[in-house]
Amino acid sequence: MLERIANFSAGPAVLPEEVLQEIQQDLLSYKGKGLSVMEMSHRSKDYQAIFDDTVDRIKRVFGLGEDFEVVFLGGGASTQFLMTAQNFCPDDKEANYLITGNWAQLAHKEAKKIGKKVFTAASSEDQNFSYIPKEYQLSENPAYLHLTSNNTIYGTQFKDFPIVPDNVPLICDMSSDIMSKPIDVKKFAVIYAGAQKNIGPAGVTLVLIRKDMIEKLQPGLPTMMTYKTHIDKGSMHNTPPTFNIYIVGLVMKWLENIGGLEVIEKINIEKAACIYDMIDNSDNYYRGTVEKEDRSLMNITFRLPSEELEAKFLSEAAAKKLSGLKGHRSVGGCRASTYNALPMSAVNQLAEFMAEFKKNNS
Ligand code: PMP
Repeated sequence: MLERIANFSAGPAVLPEEVLQEIQQDLLSYKGKGLSVMEMSHRSKDYQAIFDDTVDRIKRVFGLGEDFEVVFLGGGASTQFLMTAQNFCPDDKEANYLITGNWAQLAHKEAKKIGKKVFTAASSEDQNFSYIPKEYQLSENPAYLHLTSNNTIYGTQFKDFPIVPDNVPLICDMSSDIMSKPIDVKKFAVIYAGAQKNIGPAGVTLVLIRKDMIEKLQPGLPTMMTYKTHIDKGSMHNTPPTFNIYIVGLVMKWLENIGGLEVIEKINIEKAACIYDMIDNSDNYYRGTVEKEDRSLMNITFRLPSEELEAKFLSEAAAKKLSGLKGHRSVGGCRASTYNALPMSAVNQLAEFMAEFKKNNS
């Protein structure tokens, strides 16, 4: 086995080794069929079986039952900023947003750009997005409330989701914490996530649409922009990202094999605690950048005493094969992303390195 780095990248991110091995094993000839999944027609029986198995596994792992349509799209989570507004905000209602970071801001901006009435239900911009607002106020006639469950850049995460009136659909961008813990999915009308953090490679976006939302879909949209097209055609109106969907299926299989979301949540809590404990017990050498109660289990953001030390920290970490620790370009500092597939051993290596670096540079 080749040596692998400890990959703390915020995304595209680490994938389970077992998944990579299975891809490798089946790359030239999928289950002895003489061709790669990449080379299969999306209309073939063999590919349809892979697709259906992936959908079934997603439903099982995430507890969706038959209440949701499962759709795979291209265009990244960023295209969903547009599509959610187009599809679910009629012109006489307001699209409501909880602004907890850059991605939420972009979703809000996109709705505004296409002429929707937008409303900020709450925002944590006053404190540089270092907390999750605990209260919010809806507009008079809300089409929906949109939130970003985990803020990849700032390192905050909703621990309790907002409670909305029954007639207000909750739409959630779960790109950076989907399937990291069990949640009550039925609270959500729509969930979307770019796959490249917790559930697969970049290039496919998972969209889950609760079936009662279908009647709310806005008519008259261009073919590719309406969810109706993709629901009615089982994500096969045009060629879907076939290989990426197959890999999502393998990641689901891996999740099921390790015991599902209850188990992965425990592991994720343990991994995050290891780094947060190091930060909290460092006599302020390492400083967390967000409110403790809102800390993300997926993206751990921290600063060192100076920017010079941060640069030294990142370069020495890289030399030790601890990769992807640079904070997002818009905020600086350091960020350790500890998604589902990151092994505990990588986290232990980082904690050891942090202790050693502090000792040598205090
Ligand atoms: N939402 C969140 C929470 C993200 O972290 C990201 C990307 N890192 C996006 C949306 C944008 O995703 P994409 O690049 O797939 O468009």
